[in-house]
Amino acid sequence: MQQEIPGGREEPGQHLWQRLPPNPLAELRQVAEERERAGQVLRRLEIGEPNFRTPQHIVAAAIASLQQEAQTYGPSGGWPWLRELLAEKIRRVNGYEVSAANIGVTVGGTGAVQLALLATVGPGDEVLLPDPGWPHYYRQLAIAGAKPVPYPLDPASGWLPDLRELERRVNARTRLLIVNSPGNPTGAVFPRELIAALLDFARRHRLLLLSDECYDELVFEGEHVSPATLLTATERERGTFIGVYSFSKTYAMTGWRIGYLVAGQVLMRSLSQVLDASYTSLPLATQRAAAAALQGPQDCVAQMRAAYRRRRDQAIALLKRYGRYEYTPHGAFYILVNIARKSGDGHRARPARSDGSAREQATAFALELLRRRNVLVVPGNLFGSSTVDYVRVSLGADEETIEEGLSSICELCEEGKAHAPGVGEAREHSEESG
Ligand code: PMP
Repeated sequence: MQQEIPGGREEPGQHLWQRLPPNPLAELRQVAEERERAGQVLRRLEIGEPNFRTPQHIVAAAIASLQQEAQTYGPSGGWPWLRELLAEKIRRVNGYEVSAANIGVTVGGTGAVQLALLATVGPGDEVLLPDPGWPHYYRQLAIAGAKPVPYPLDPASGWLPDLRELERRVNARTRLLIVNSPGNPTGAVFPRELIAALLDFARRHRLLLLSDECYDELVFEGEHVSPATLLTATERERGTFIGVYSFSKTYAMTGWRIGYLVAGQVLMRSLSQVLDASYTSLPLATQRAAAAALQGPQDCVAQMRAAYRRRRDQAIALLKRYGRYEYTPHGAFYILVNIARKSGDGHRARPARSDGSAREQATAFALELLRRRNVLVVPGNLFGSSTVDYVRVSLGADEETIEEGLSSICELCEEGKAHAPGVGEAREHSEESG
């Protein structure tokens, strides 16, 4: 972006914020807030956030810390007692050995991804990332100055990547591969052989691998495979792997903003530099809460996982009733709903349109769903180009909201089919959307 600056010189990209893609949900949220202010009760299925409260023993640990300890600065990578517990968690849940020195505590998984990108890629580098994928990857790559190169996940296989598509996109400038399993927005859990194949691909092309495992404890069927379990100890130490983890989803701690990353010794040195320069350290009370989460009973995690699984089953049963079931998410707490085709219609590619209307279709649908049914979802086009015909429904909401919200989606799809070939476009100017 060219910008006029005082003194008459033109400088490209003067300010970082000008390079950032806007937060894609902003427009929808604005409409939602207007409706709430007008007294409407919304069914919110857009938030990637558990509707559970943080378990009490975790909250109590933070309160005790605030009451009994000085809230000082701490070591930039996190307090050693927490890092020891995190190393134990990695062994217990993720199944590989790591020392406390190879762990850095971060501002959520978001902070972990940002630090990892800032420490490893920059202008001229290309980064392979899943499509559909978490929209923040794009925004964070814009901050790092590197180029996003999306690789498609295939709805026909339950949203798994096809290695041939990755091979097509890799070149001499590719530096890093982002893998996210269990995935947002798909809920797909990559099987062991696929993780092994992705690792092999990364090895052959000498890529760094960033494995975003923020939903590692939310798997309903099958197993969560951390790519690091398939690396040799030397490979882990040599540092081609970065693991990203979070307390947000596992313990219903989104607002506490705590996560962590794992990396080999060499990478850890640069990561620590960026971490120290970025925010010095996290609040002590938050780190005490995280320690309590790891040391305390884990049945809260099992209970929340069981609830998400029940909601997943409820969503699938409803979609089947409406003829819109397409796949079963095996982890995380999201489901993608196809708004353009019913089950059994196959995965025919949508004819390409030069005016970009296909990309906007899901957004138009989400706006209409909000205006006519008071239901808020995330349009699929915000996750990439593979999901322009989808909306994402979060199963972080309660059962009634899911039932009502999903029914509204399916009913609106049916209405759309009755008088328009493409779901959103013909109704963009319907009487209630003005
Ligand atoms: N990665 C993925 C794939 C996510 O969906 C999220 C949260 N929506 C995060 C990372 C980061 O979450 P947090 O910063 O709350 O740990």
